[in-house]
Amino acid sequence: MSGRITVDEARTLWNDASDEELQRLAQEVRHRWHEPNHATYMVMRIINYTNVCVAQCDYCAFYVLPNQEGGYVLSRKDVFAKIDDLLEVGGDLVAFNGGFNPKLPLDFYCDLFAAVRARYGDRVEFYALTIAEFIYLADRANLTHAEAAVRLRDAGVHWITGGGSEILTEDFRKRHAKFKYTVREYFEAQRAIVEAGLKTTATMVIGFDETLDERLEHLRRTRDFQDECIAENLHGLFSFLCWTYKPYGTEFAGVEISPREYWRHIALSRIFLDNVKHVRTSVLTQNAEAFRALDYGADDFDLPIEDEVTQKAGATIELDLEGLLAVPRKLGYTVEYRRAERPAALTI
Ligand code: SF4
Repeated sequence: MSGRITVDEARTLWNDASDEELQRLAQEVRHRWHEPNHATYMVMRIINYTNVCVAQCDYCAFYVLPNQEGGYVLSRKDVFAKIDDLLEVGGDLVAFNGGFNPKLPLDFYCDLFAAVRARYGDRVEFYALTIAEFIYLADRANLTHAEAAVRLRDAGVHWITGGGSEILTEDFRKRHAKFKYTVREYFEAQRAIVEAGLKTTATMVIGFDETLDERLEHLRRTRDFQDECIAENLHGLFSFLCWTYKPYGTEFAGVEISPREYWRHIALSRIFLDNVKHVRTSVLTQNAEAFRALDYGADDFDLPIEDEVTQKAGATIELDLEGLLAVPRKLGYTVEYRRAERPAALTI
Protein backbone atom coordinates (compact mmCIF):
# COMPACT_ATOMS: atom_id res chain seq x y z
CA MET A 1 0.00 0.00 0.00
CA SER A 2 1.53 3.32 -0.96
CA GLY A 3 0.42 6.55 0.70
CA ARG A 4 -2.70 7.29 2.65
CA ILE A 5 -6.16 6.04 1.81
CA THR A 6 -9.17 8.21 1.05
CA VAL A 7 -12.58 7.91 2.68
CA ASP A 8 -13.89 6.21 -0.48
CA GLU A 9 -11.05 3.70 -0.42
CA ALA A 10 -11.72 3.02 3.26
CA ARG A 11 -15.38 2.34 2.45
CA THR A 12 -14.36 -0.11 -0.28
CA LEU A 13 -11.91 -1.86 2.04
CA TRP A 14 -14.59 -2.25 4.71
CA ASN A 15 -17.12 -3.63 2.26
CA ASP A 16 -14.87 -5.84 0.14
CA ALA A 17 -11.58 -6.72 1.86
CA SER A 18 -11.15 -10.11 3.51
CA ASP A 19 -10.00 -10.29 7.12
CA GLU A 20 -6.56 -11.39 5.91
CA GLU A 21 -6.25 -8.42 3.57
CA LEU A 22 -7.26 -5.96 6.31
CA GLN A 23 -4.77 -7.53 8.69
CA ARG A 24 -1.97 -7.35 6.12
CA LEU A 25 -2.59 -3.67 5.33
CA ALA A 26 -2.98 -2.76 9.02
CA GLN A 27 0.27 -4.53 9.89
CA GLU A 28 2.03 -2.55 7.15
CA VAL A 29 1.04 0.73 8.86
CA ARG A 30 1.72 -0.69 12.34
CA HIS A 31 5.27 -1.61 11.31
CA ARG A 32 6.01 2.01 10.41
CA TRP A 33 5.68 2.84 14.10
CA HIS A 34 6.26 -0.34 16.09
CA GLU A 35 8.25 -3.54 16.22
CA PRO A 36 6.30 -6.52 14.95
CA ASN A 37 5.05 -8.96 17.56
CA HIS A 38 5.57 -6.49 20.38
CA ALA A 39 2.82 -4.71 22.33
CA THR A 40 2.73 -2.34 25.29
CA TYR A 41 0.20 -2.03 28.10
CA MET A 42 -0.71 -0.20 31.28
CA VAL A 43 -2.56 -1.21 34.42
CA MET A 44 -5.12 1.46 35.21
CA ARG A 45 -8.28 2.35 37.08
CA ILE A 46 -11.09 4.58 36.01
CA ILE A 47 -12.32 6.54 39.01
CA ASN A 48 -15.91 7.62 38.54
CA TYR A 49 -16.01 10.51 41.00
CA THR A 50 -19.72 11.25 40.54
CA ASN A 51 -22.63 9.54 38.79
CA VAL A 52 -24.85 12.63 38.88
CA CYS A 53 -25.29 13.92 35.36
CA VAL A 54 -27.58 16.23 33.43
CA ALA A 55 -26.47 15.18 29.94
CA GLN A 56 -28.93 12.25 29.66
CA CYS A 57 -27.19 10.37 26.85
CA ASP A 58 -29.54 7.56 25.80
CA TYR A 59 -26.70 4.99 25.63
CA CYS A 60 -25.65 5.49 29.27
CA ALA A 61 -26.63 3.17 32.12
CA PHE A 62 -24.46 4.96 34.66
CA TYR A 63 -25.98 8.32 35.45
CA VAL A 64 -28.69 9.53 37.82
CA LEU A 65 -30.23 12.99 37.60
CA PRO A 66 -29.61 15.58 40.35
CA ASN A 67 -31.78 14.87 43.42
CA GLN A 68 -32.56 11.34 42.22
CA GLU A 69 -31.90 8.46 44.58
CA GLY A 70 -28.49 6.79 44.29
CA GLY A 71 -26.46 9.83 43.30
CA TYR A 72 -22.98 10.10 44.80
CA VAL A 73 -19.80 12.16 44.85
CA LEU A 74 -16.64 10.38 46.00
CA SER A 75 -14.82 11.94 48.93
CA ARG A 76 -11.15 12.72 48.66
CA LYS A 77 -10.52 9.83 51.06
CA ASP A 78 -12.36 7.43 48.70
CA VAL A 79 -10.34 8.68 45.74
CA PHE A 80 -7.03 8.22 47.56
CA ALA A 81 -8.04 4.72 48.71
CA LYS A 82 -8.79 3.74 45.11
CA ILE A 83 -5.43 5.07 43.93
CA ASP A 84 -3.64 3.25 46.77
CA ASP A 85 -5.35 -0.01 45.67
CA LEU A 86 -4.19 0.58 42.11
CA LEU A 87 -0.59 1.07 43.22
CA GLU A 88 -0.81 -2.14 45.19
CA VAL A 89 -1.63 -4.19 42.09
CA GLY A 90 1.20 -2.54 40.13
CA GLY A 91 -0.79 0.05 38.18
CA ASP A 92 0.09 3.71 37.80
CA LEU A 93 -2.57 5.31 35.60
CA VAL A 94 -5.85 6.78 36.82
CA ALA A 95 -8.55 8.11 34.52
CA PHE A 96 -11.04 10.38 36.25
CA ASN A 97 -14.41 10.22 34.60
CA GLY A 98 -17.87 11.11 35.79
CA GLY A 99 -21.12 12.87 35.08
CA PHE A 100 -21.94 16.51 34.41
CA ASN A 101 -22.79 17.29 38.03
CA PRO A 102 -24.12 20.87 38.36
CA LYS A 103 -23.01 21.00 42.01
CA LEU A 104 -19.32 20.48 41.16
CA PRO A 105 -17.61 23.54 39.63
CA LEU A 106 -14.25 23.59 37.85
CA ASP A 107 -12.56 24.67 41.11
CA PHE A 108 -13.64 21.41 42.76
CA TYR A 109 -11.71 19.50 40.10
CA CYS A 110 -8.69 21.80 40.20
CA ASP A 111 -8.47 21.24 43.97
CA LEU A 112 -8.88 17.46 43.58
CA PHE A 113 -6.24 17.16 40.85
CA ALA A 114 -3.80 19.39 42.73
CA ALA A 115 -4.27 17.18 45.81
CA VAL A 116 -3.64 14.00 43.81
CA ARG A 117 -0.50 15.50 42.26
CA ALA A 118 0.74 16.68 45.66
CA ARG A 119 0.15 13.31 47.33
CA TYR A 120 1.44 10.98 44.61
CA GLY A 121 3.94 13.07 42.60
CA ASP A 122 5.06 11.07 39.61
CA ARG A 123 4.17 7.68 41.13
CA VAL A 124 0.80 8.03 39.45
CA GLU A 125 -0.19 9.71 36.21
CA PHE A 126 -3.78 10.71 35.67
CA TYR A 127 -6.11 11.51 32.83
CA ALA A 128 -7.93 14.39 34.46
CA LEU A 129 -11.15 14.72 32.52
CA THR A 130 -12.55 13.78 29.17
CA ILE A 131 -13.13 16.53 26.63
CA ALA A 132 -16.88 16.14 27.20
CA GLU A 133 -16.55 17.01 30.90
CA PHE A 134 -14.01 19.72 30.12
CA ILE A 135 -16.44 21.53 27.79
CA TYR A 136 -19.24 21.32 30.37
CA LEU A 137 -17.04 22.68 33.18
CA ALA A 138 -15.56 25.50 31.09
CA ASP A 139 -19.07 26.59 30.05
CA ARG A 140 -20.33 26.50 33.64
CA ALA A 141 -17.35 28.58 34.80
CA ASN A 142 -17.89 31.10 31.98
CA LEU A 143 -14.35 30.49 30.78
CA THR A 144 -13.05 30.01 27.28
CA HIS A 145 -11.64 26.58 26.55
CA ALA A 146 -8.16 28.14 26.53
CA GLU A 147 -8.68 29.68 29.98
CA ALA A 148 -10.06 26.45 31.43
CA ALA A 149 -7.15 24.44 30.01
CA VAL A 150 -4.66 26.79 31.66
CA ARG A 151 -6.51 26.56 35.01
CA LEU A 152 -6.28 22.76 34.89
CA ARG A 153 -2.66 22.81 33.77
CA ASP A 154 -1.80 25.08 36.70
CA ALA A 155 -3.48 22.55 39.02
CA GLY A 156 -1.02 19.86 37.91
CA VAL A 157 -3.00 18.27 35.07
CA HIS A 158 -1.02 16.84 32.15
CA TRP A 159 -3.71 14.98 30.22
CA ILE A 160 -7.28 15.70 29.12
CA THR A 161 -8.27 12.78 26.95
CA GLY A 162 -10.61 12.50 24.01
CA GLY A 163 -13.11 10.33 25.92
CA GLY A 164 -16.80 10.97 25.60
CA SER A 165 -16.55 11.32 21.82
CA GLU A 166 -18.48 8.16 20.85
CA ILE A 167 -19.22 9.01 17.20
CA LEU A 168 -18.21 12.49 16.08
CA THR A 169 -20.94 13.51 13.68
CA GLU A 170 -23.49 16.23 14.41
CA ASP A 171 -26.32 13.89 13.49
CA PHE A 172 -25.20 11.14 15.90
CA ARG A 173 -24.94 13.70 18.68
CA LYS A 174 -28.49 14.94 18.01
CA ARG A 175 -29.85 11.38 18.02
CA HIS A 176 -28.20 10.23 21.24
CA ALA A 177 -26.55 13.01 23.25
CA LYS A 178 -28.12 16.32 22.38
CA PHE A 179 -27.15 17.99 25.67
CA LYS A 180 -23.48 17.10 25.48
CA TYR A 181 -21.59 19.17 22.86
CA THR A 182 -21.43 19.74 19.13
CA VAL A 183 -18.63 18.25 17.08
CA ARG A 184 -17.39 21.76 16.35
CA GLU A 185 -17.14 22.46 20.11
CA TYR A 186 -15.37 19.15 20.66
CA PHE A 187 -12.53 19.94 18.27
CA GLU A 188 -12.32 23.59 19.40
CA ALA A 189 -11.85 22.34 22.96
CA GLN A 190 -9.28 19.76 21.91
CA ARG A 191 -7.34 22.43 20.06
CA ALA A 192 -7.31 24.65 23.16
CA ILE A 193 -6.06 21.69 25.20
CA VAL A 194 -3.08 21.00 22.93
CA GLU A 195 -2.32 24.71 22.57
CA ALA A 196 -2.08 24.91 26.37
CA GLY A 197 0.63 22.24 26.19
CA LEU A 198 -1.53 19.45 27.61
CA LYS A 199 -1.61 15.97 26.12
CA THR A 200 -4.66 14.41 24.62
CA THR A 201 -5.90 11.31 22.84
CA ALA A 202 -8.59 10.28 20.39
CA THR A 203 -11.32 7.78 21.20
CA MET A 204 -14.26 6.24 19.40
CA VAL A 205 -17.09 3.95 20.41
CA ILE A 206 -18.82 1.75 17.82
CA GLY A 207 -21.83 -0.50 17.91
CA PHE A 208 -24.76 1.91 18.38
CA ASP A 209 -26.81 2.61 15.25
CA GLU A 210 -24.08 4.54 13.49
CA THR A 211 -23.70 4.09 9.75
CA LEU A 212 -20.46 3.21 7.98
CA ASP A 213 -20.35 6.78 6.67
CA GLU A 214 -20.56 8.08 10.24
CA ARG A 215 -17.69 5.85 11.31
CA LEU A 216 -15.64 7.11 8.38
CA GLU A 217 -16.50 10.73 9.15
CA HIS A 218 -15.27 10.24 12.70
CA LEU A 219 -11.98 8.80 11.43
CA ARG A 220 -11.62 11.52 8.81
CA ARG A 221 -12.13 14.32 11.35
CA THR A 222 -9.63 12.67 13.70
CA ARG A 223 -7.00 12.37 10.98
CA ASP A 224 -7.59 15.99 9.88
CA PHE A 225 -7.17 17.22 13.45
CA GLN A 226 -3.90 15.35 13.77
CA ASP A 227 -2.66 16.74 10.45
CA GLU A 228 -3.33 20.27 11.73
CA CYS A 229 -1.46 19.58 14.97
CA ILE A 230 1.53 18.17 13.13
CA ALA A 231 1.59 21.14 10.73
CA GLU A 232 1.60 23.53 13.71
CA ASN A 233 4.15 21.57 15.71
CA LEU A 234 1.67 20.81 18.52
CA HIS A 235 1.66 17.58 20.59
CA GLY A 236 -1.45 16.28 18.84
CA LEU A 237 -3.12 12.95 19.51
CA PHE A 238 -0.99 10.50 21.43
CA SER A 239 -3.21 7.53 20.63
CA PHE A 240 -6.50 6.33 19.24
CA LEU A 241 -8.58 4.00 21.42
CA CYS A 242 -11.75 2.36 20.16
CA TRP A 243 -14.17 0.38 22.28
CA THR A 244 -17.62 -1.07 21.81
CA TYR A 245 -21.01 0.02 23.09
CA LYS A 246 -22.47 -2.03 25.93
CA PRO A 247 -26.27 -1.92 25.71
CA TYR A 248 -27.44 -3.41 29.02
CA GLY A 249 -29.62 -1.17 31.17
CA THR A 250 -29.51 1.75 28.75
CA GLU A 251 -32.48 3.59 27.29
CA PHE A 252 -31.22 3.02 23.73
CA ALA A 253 -30.65 -0.72 24.37
CA GLY A 254 -29.62 -2.70 21.25
CA VAL A 255 -27.25 -5.65 20.82
CA GLU A 256 -23.48 -5.87 20.96
CA ILE A 257 -21.44 -6.12 17.77
CA SER A 258 -19.28 -9.20 17.22
CA PRO A 259 -15.57 -9.33 18.11
CA ARG A 260 -14.83 -9.82 14.40
CA GLU A 261 -16.53 -6.54 13.50
CA TYR A 262 -14.49 -4.85 16.21
CA TRP A 263 -11.20 -6.33 14.93
CA ARG A 264 -11.99 -5.28 11.38
CA HIS A 265 -12.74 -1.75 12.57
CA ILE A 266 -9.42 -1.63 14.44
CA ALA A 267 -7.67 -2.64 11.20
CA LEU A 268 -9.50 0.01 9.20
CA SER A 269 -8.65 2.64 11.84
CA ARG A 270 -4.97 1.62 11.84
CA ILE A 271 -4.84 1.90 8.05
CA PHE A 272 -6.73 5.20 7.92
CA LEU A 273 -5.05 6.97 10.87
CA ASP A 274 -1.58 6.82 9.40
CA ASN A 275 -0.55 9.91 11.41
CA VAL A 276 -1.39 8.56 14.90
CA LYS A 277 1.30 6.49 16.60
CA HIS A 278 -0.72 4.24 18.88
CA VAL A 279 -3.90 2.31 18.11
CA ARG A 280 -5.22 0.80 21.34
CA THR A 281 -7.48 -2.17 21.81
CA SER A 282 -10.12 -2.29 24.57
CA VAL A 283 -9.78 -5.07 27.12
CA LEU A 284 -12.47 -3.28 29.14
CA THR A 285 -15.20 -4.03 26.60
CA GLN A 286 -13.76 -6.99 24.68
CA ASN A 287 -12.01 -8.93 27.48
CA ALA A 288 -9.66 -11.62 26.10
CA GLU A 289 -11.04 -11.08 22.56
CA ALA A 290 -9.34 -7.66 22.60
CA PHE A 291 -5.93 -9.22 22.05
CA ARG A 292 -6.77 -10.56 18.58
CA ALA A 293 -6.93 -6.87 17.57
CA LEU A 294 -3.11 -6.86 17.85
CA ASP A 295 -3.16 -8.96 14.65
CA TYR A 296 -5.34 -6.24 13.13
CA GLY A 297 -2.91 -3.39 13.78
CA ALA A 298 -3.37 -2.43 17.45
CA ASP A 299 -0.16 -2.06 19.47
CA ASP A 300 -1.20 -1.07 22.99
CA PHE A 301 -3.86 -1.76 25.62
CA ASP A 302 -4.97 -1.07 29.20
CA LEU A 303 -5.67 -3.65 31.85
CA PRO A 304 -8.38 -1.81 33.81
CA ILE A 305 -9.33 -2.79 37.34
CA GLU A 306 -12.49 -0.66 37.53
CA ASP A 307 -14.87 1.38 35.40
CA GLU A 308 -18.36 1.76 36.77
CA VAL A 309 -19.69 3.41 33.59
CA THR A 310 -19.15 0.41 31.31
CA GLN A 311 -19.65 -2.13 34.10
CA LYS A 312 -23.15 -0.75 34.69
CA ALA A 313 -23.88 -1.36 30.99
CA GLY A 314 -22.60 -4.92 31.03
CA ALA A 315 -18.78 -4.84 30.89
CA THR A 316 -17.01 -7.41 33.06
CA ILE A 317 -13.55 -6.87 34.51
CA GLU A 318 -10.98 -9.66 34.86
CA LEU A 319 -8.60 -9.06 37.75
CA ASP A 320 -6.24 -11.95 36.97
CA LEU A 321 -3.79 -9.67 35.17
CA GLU A 322 -1.17 -12.36 34.57
CA GLY A 323 -3.89 -14.61 33.15
CA LEU A 324 -4.88 -11.84 30.75
CA LEU A 325 -1.29 -11.17 29.70
CA ALA A 326 -0.89 -14.85 28.87
CA VAL A 327 -3.35 -14.37 25.99
CA PRO A 328 -1.26 -11.97 23.84
CA ARG A 329 1.82 -14.00 24.70
CA LYS A 330 0.10 -17.09 23.34
CA LEU A 331 -0.69 -15.13 20.17
CA GLY A 332 3.07 -14.58 19.75
CA TYR A 333 3.52 -11.08 21.22
CA THR A 334 6.00 -9.89 23.79
CA VAL A 335 4.29 -7.43 26.14
CA GLU A 336 5.97 -4.57 27.94
CA TYR A 337 4.65 -2.23 30.62
CA ARG A 338 4.41 1.40 29.47
CA ARG A 339 4.33 4.38 31.81
CA ALA A 340 2.07 7.30 30.86
CA GLU A 341 4.04 9.98 29.07
CA ARG A 342 4.21 13.55 30.31
CA PRO A 343 4.41 16.63 28.12
CA ALA A 344 8.08 17.58 28.07
CA ALA A 345 7.33 21.20 28.96
CA LEU A 346 5.38 20.14 32.05
CA THR A 347 7.76 17.57 33.51
CA ILE A 348 8.18 18.24 37.21
S1 SF4 B 1 -22.29 9.12 29.09
FE1 SF4 B 1 -21.37 10.60 30.52
S2 SF4 B 1 -22.25 12.56 29.90
FE2 SF4 B 1 -23.59 10.97 29.02
S3 SF4 B 1 -25.21 10.62 30.58
FE3 SF4 B 1 -23.56 9.13 30.98
S4 SF4 B 1 -22.30 10.13 32.54
FE4 SF4 B 1 -23.55 11.73 31.57
